[in-house]
Amino acid sequence: MDPSRSAYQRQARYTAQDLAHHTNGQGCKLASRIRREIVSALPPNLGETCRLLGSLRTQLQKDDGLHVSGIGDDSEQTKDLNTLILDEEDFQASKTRRMRWLTQLCEYYPLSRLTQLGPDDISTLLEQYRQEESNNKASTNDIPIPVLSSNRGTLTLVGAGPGHPDLLTQMALNAINTADLVLADKLIPAEVLALIPRRTEIFIARKFPGNAEKAQQELQERGLAALRQGKSVIRLKQGDPYIFGRGGEEVLFFRAQGFKVSVIPGLTSALTATALAGIPATHRGVADQLVICTGTGRNGALPQLPEYSKTKTAVILMALHRIDEMVVALGYVGWGIDVPCAVVERASCRDQRVIRTRLRDVARAIEVEGSRPPGLLVVGWACHVLNSDEKAEWIVEEGLDAEFWFTSDVS
Ligand code: SAH
Repeated sequence: MDPSRSAYQRQARYTAQDLAHHTNGQGCKLASRIRREIVSALPPNLGETCRLLGSLRTQLQKDDGLHVSGIGDDSEQTKDLNTLILDEEDFQASKTRRMRWLTQLCEYYPLSRLTQLGPDDISTLLEQYRQEESNNKASTNDIPIPVLSSNRGTLTLVGAGPGHPDLLTQMALNAINTADLVLADKLIPAEVLALIPRRTEIFIARKFPGNAEKAQQELQERGLAALRQGKSVIRLKQGDPYIFGRGGEEVLFFRAQGFKVSVIPGLTSALTATALAGIPATHRGVADQLVICTGTGRNGALPQLPEYSKTKTAVILMALHRIDEMVVALGYVGWGIDVPCAVVERASCRDQRVIRTRLRDVARAIEVEGSRPPGLLVVGWACHVLNSDEKAEWIVEEGLDAEFWFTSDVS
């Protein structure tokens, strides 16, 4: 035997023993760390997989007549009376085929693939085995590797961050690099789309005013078709998928179709825009609450806005196209016209722009300066912590000021 292999086996055995007894408390912390590391390296759902494969084994044993013959480990009479009872030789051959078939499945399938098995897959595998068993009775040598016919795809909601490609997480980038199909929102900037490998299929939602529902449906149907072909699909969403991104709705939709959905969080524009505009959203003695809300409710209606508190910062997304209305509506819930605010547009992009002003002048500032979507409104005294100019009606700041933001070549 390969000496390094035997050393490895000894090591594995001792580690297991140490973990079990952790010798009078010595090294007990280390043992629990090792246990944690081992567990974290395993794919989730393994317990359920063991249970499912156990049920597959039981079904196969029943098929082999194990329960009737009394030759096996279970002499219980569970077989139907009209089922064919195998003679000793047939029984042994069947048992060997079954064991080899199960071994192929347990030893050679990637663990990650095994843990995706559901009850339907187990029925498919059982059916497949029965067919092979009836076709292949004569041979015990030629056992094909079981094939999972219901090759289920995977869906991941991926947060793409506020726009700058460097603000994608490593996990998001890995998902982009390994996907078969990317379903992207219109808001995702070209620099992020440029990271999608050429071989990968991309579909961008055709969302424009009045078409949002239809576009969403189209996107979901595309996803569903690809999932049914067993593809790995990602839904690339601006910011974080669960912050005004319809992420929850999509999870419910795909779940209802029988698919499991995973989520990779992204940096939400609500928090990156404040940070990049030099607004500490919470600041001791100034702001101890932060509300992220929308300026556009269902069917375009004005939603309920957060009540004013001197120590609250409100970040309002999808609000700038109706800024006059917003200022009035904020006034109704206590936000006075002297409260500082900032319009942050295209946060993290090279053409980021910040307009610092107060609620009194914000509508006029936008009218004069024009708009540069996507943008959001930050309201509250936190806007004045690091930047305040009492004299000007508004100040405009163009671009990002830190050089290190441009490690990637963005336009
Ligand atoms: N899920 C996203 C928000 C989607 S709603 C997130 O977590 O960021 C779309 C709104 O987000 C836009 O109308 C705008 O208000 C805001 N937004 C998105 N990207 C932005 C950016 N780079 N700068 C400023 N606002 C942005």
